[in-house]
This record gives sequence, C-alpha cells and structure tokens, in this order.
Amino acid sequence: MTDIVVVGSLNVDVVVPLPELPAAGQTVLGSADHWRAGGGKGANQAVAAARLGRQVAMVGAVGDDAEGEWLTGLLAAEGVRTEAVLRATRPTGQAIVLVTADGDSTIAVSSGANMWLSSAHLTPYRELIRTARALLVQQEVSAEVVAEAVAAAGGLVVLNPAPARPVDVATLARVDVLVPNRGELAALTGSPTVPGDADQLAALARSLGTRGPVVVTLGADGALVVTDERQWLLPAQPVEAVDATGAGDTFCAALADALLDGASIDDAARWAIRVAAVTVTRPGAMAAVPRRDEVLIAG
Ligand code: ADP
Repeated sequence: MTDIVVVGSLNVDVVVPLPELPAAGQTVLGSADHWRAGGGKGANQAVAAARLGRQVAMVGAVGDDAEGEWLTGLLAAEGVRTEAVLRATRPTGQAIVLVTADGDSTIAVSSGANMWLSSAHLTPYRELIRTARALLVQQEVSAEVVAEAVAAAGGLVVLNPAPARPVDVATLARVDVLVPNRGELAALTGSPTVPGDADQLAALARSLGTRGPVVVTLGADGALVVTDERQWLLPAQPVEAVDATGAGDTFCAALADALLDGASIDDAARWAIRVAAVTVTRPGAMAAVPRRDEVLIAG
C-alpha cells in the first residue's frame, strides 16, 4: 500500500559558494569547493515523507544520464519507490545555486527532464496515483501534468503551488489542502500585491474554491490556516535558523503525514511547523530533512 505518491520534479543542485553574488556580465571566483545535492521540490517532498516513515512512490522524470542515475539511486536509498521515475530524452534537471557565506543566494534552474514529462506519461501510473492514500504535487512540472495527477488521485490531494503560477479552476476544485506561501497565494489569485495582513490572505485563500483548507506558510512567522469558517495563525517554532531551503517542502510532506494519521488540520499544521523547524536548523535542502525520531527528540 502506498501512503503518498509524489508527482513532481527531481533536480541535481550544484551548489557554488562565492564571496559575493555576480552582477550581470561579471565573473566571481569562488574557492575550489562546490558540491552537488539531490533536489527539486518533488524529490525533496518524497524524501521528507520517507524519512517520516511513510511508504512513498515518486512519479517524475530524469535524464538518461549519470545525474539521473545518481538521483534515482539517492531516492531509492531513502526507501522511495522509483519505478515511475522515467528516463527522458532531455537531460536531468539542474539547479545552479550560488551562495554567499551570509546566506544570500541566486538560483538558475534548467528544468530539463521535468518539463519533458507529459500527461500521457502518467497513463501507466494512473492506478498508482488513484490507490495511494495521498497525492503530493508541486509546480516544477507542467500544468498539464499537475492537472492530470490531481484528476487521477483517489486519496487526499495536497497541492503546493510552487513556484508561483496560476492553476485552473477544475484542478483547484479537487484540492483537499492547498499549501502556498504568500507570494504563491497572490499569484494564484491574480492579486497585484502580496498582502501581509492575515484577513486579506484569508480572503484570497477562500476565493480559490478549493474543497478543503488552505495553509499559507509564512516563513519565520509560521503558518496561517484558513477554513471556510475561520482562520488562525500558528507561530513558527523559535529556532536558530541556519538555512531555510527545503523548509516549505518539509512542511508539505509533514502535513500530509499527519493528515494520513487522521489529525485535524490544526494538529497537522502544528506537526508540519515542528518538522520544518528542524530542517531550518541544518544546512542544505534534502540533506536537512529530519527523520521522525529526530523531530520527536527536538521537541
Ligand atoms: P517556502 O520556502 O515554501 O516559502 P516558508 O519559508 O514559508 O516556505 O517555510 C515553510 C515553513 O517552515 C514555515 O511555515 C515555518 O513553519 C518553517 N520555517 C521557515 N523559516 C523558519 C524560521 N526561520 N524559523 C522557524 N521556522 C521556519
């Protein structure tokens, strides 16, 4: 039995530390060190769910290349099923991450195989998507893949609309829990500004027509839970933040994890806040995601 099927992206992150970020046309020399890490919102969420102890299957695409082989192996080593990670005629997605010592970063993404994936590729996996207890999907794959995955789902549908992009009405109507950040919520609703005020965020969230709650992540300010009847703010766990990359992905996976245990949306968001807080205290994205026992020890 699959607990969670993730339909989404897999990237190799090439991380390059630099003394300063280059301006257009400028070359900046870094040290001899750079490294690669598994990434992509889909892969991050799959690994996060697996580390929480869930049975996870990944649906996505990598290139028919060494990076694709490496990334698939990385997921398999985490216990994520990879039989639906396809080999594309495009290279594996790559994110070039330029970072400075004080945490500023610039990221360039080549989607590669992730955008090669089409709705037709999902056909053999419709049964997998239908029978999984939950679907986790993000937007680093095409809109048609997102729509097809959501239409095929038979369990709980959690959509993390990241990166920001509008979503069609029919897809939104099938979403049980939507998890945007502020900017993504504004983009979904076509709002020209990004509201900071909880009432305004709640009004935008309710205008979307999802069939369940919206949980707006607010970084160090925590999360705003919005239902039809009311909205409430849950503060973030106070931690010494080291690197917030991957916090949103961890949050989504942990939310689905708790909902599968029958938790209320309030309890599920509280659990997601605890799990994401641990990720924030460690460097890296996928590497920073905690196991269930590590969250319980962290308190
Ligand atoms: P995204 O990266 O998708 O924009 P957020 O930055 O909103 O996601 O982070 C997701 C969640 O991670 C937040 O709702 C919060 O619970 C947690 N989080 C993020 N940054 C911090 C922080 N500095 N301290 C504690 N928790 C954090």
